[in-house]
Amino acid sequence: MEKKEMLYEGKAKKVYTTEDPDVLIVSYKDDATAFNGLKKGTIVGKGAINNRMTNFIFKKLEAQGVPTHLVEELNDRETAVKKVEIVPLEVIIRNYSAGSFAKKMGMEEGVKFKCPTLEFSYKNDDLGDPFINSYYALALELATQEEIDDITKYAFKVNEVLQQYFDALNIDLIDFKIEFGRYHGKVILADEISPDTCRLWDKDTHEKLDKDRFRRDLGGVEDAYEEVFRRLGIQ
Ligand code: ADP
Ligand code: UDP
Repeated sequence: MEKKEMLYEGKAKKVYTTEDPDVLIVSYKDDATAFNGLKKGTIVGKGAINNRMTNFIFKKLEAQGVPTHLVEELNDRETAVKKVEIVPLEVIIRNYSAGSFAKKMGMEEGVKFKCPTLEFSYKNDDLGDPFINSYYALALELATQEEIDDITKYAFKVNEVLQQYFDALNIDLIDFKIEFGRYHGKVILADEISPDTCRLWDKDTHEKLDKDRFRRDLGGVEDAYEEVFRRLGIQ
């Protein structure tokens, strides 16, 4: 499978067409951004880690009944994926307070919830990805009720599988963001699951093993990504 033209260059990935109209190639970059692109930098080796980690996790999720866009890992940084129409919702699940939730609710970070939360942001960089609810999503025609129901069901399933998985690696899954796309009339999991899109804390030390190290200038960013990758034991 070969790349034809670049369709899109995002903040973390480039997306290319292929000879198959149903298949795209995503190429993961080492570029890192935060605060809607205001902070920019490089995390050496991140592209390969995020590519390989996403594919590893997507395979586990497929085995547990969550359909994904994964077609085939092509090399360290590049993967063939099903071309979807992205549903413009960032779907965020939280198991513990952190980040924007902690700020908004005037709470410290790291408080475990009795049950996980799910929220949507409207995926729109110009508006700064505003928080919305499912009625807004329906009113703005971002998704149908049926799609929202499927997205909700799959998002909680992803949480269940990931929580169990990271638990065994002595990592607490604090929160994460996922995206879905439409493929031949069905909603499937797309984009990525990586330390860029999850908060991952060591269970014992509560050390942050994710992009917050970059966002908050905590240092040891590359080491944190490598540590998660090492614990996953990806061959
Ligand atoms: P951003 O657009 O936020 O800067 P990226 O740099 O990760 O993000 O760019 C990748 C883009 O590709 C994202 O907009 C994402 O929604 C989109 N995307 C992810 N998976 C697919 C897919 N299977 N088909 C089409 N688009 C996809
Ligand atoms: N997240 C993401 N992309 C975004 C916004 C959030 O991947 O554009 C992830 C983030 O890494 C965290 C979770 O979603 O794991 C919740 O993020 P939060 O709402 O707390 O926002 P933040 O504090 O990152 O602004």
